[in-house]
Amino acid sequence: MTSGPPDSSGPREDQNEYAETWGAPTKPEDVWFSQIKEKYGTLRVYLYGADKHIDGLVTMAEACSETTCEVCGNSGSLYGTGWYYTRCLPCWTKQGGNESDRPPPADW
Ligand SMILES: [Zn+2]
Repeated sequence: MTSGPPDSSGPREDQNEYAETWGAPTKPEDVWFSQIKEKYGTLRVYLYGADKHIDGLVTMAEACSETTCEVCGNSGSLYGTGWYYTRCLPCWTKQGGNESDRPPPADW
């Protein structure tokens, strides 16, 4: 067993692996958001200049917003008629909604 400082080639190899997978990292100043909003009860983010890594993070956040209660953060789903909200059932009923208040099947 050896001891001492970690191999200095590690971080460089990690950076090379990142670049091969995701491309060159994007500088924060190269990314700008044209819109961040709620639509049909879920998060929508429109941005420019993002690399694959950032696009993946945004896609994950948008997907999480479809199943995360906007009030308490517990597991939720879409409720509402006309205007949609992502809520857990307790938060939805506390707001005055009924369990049957569900949107029609999505076609967006
Ligand atoms: Zn909730």
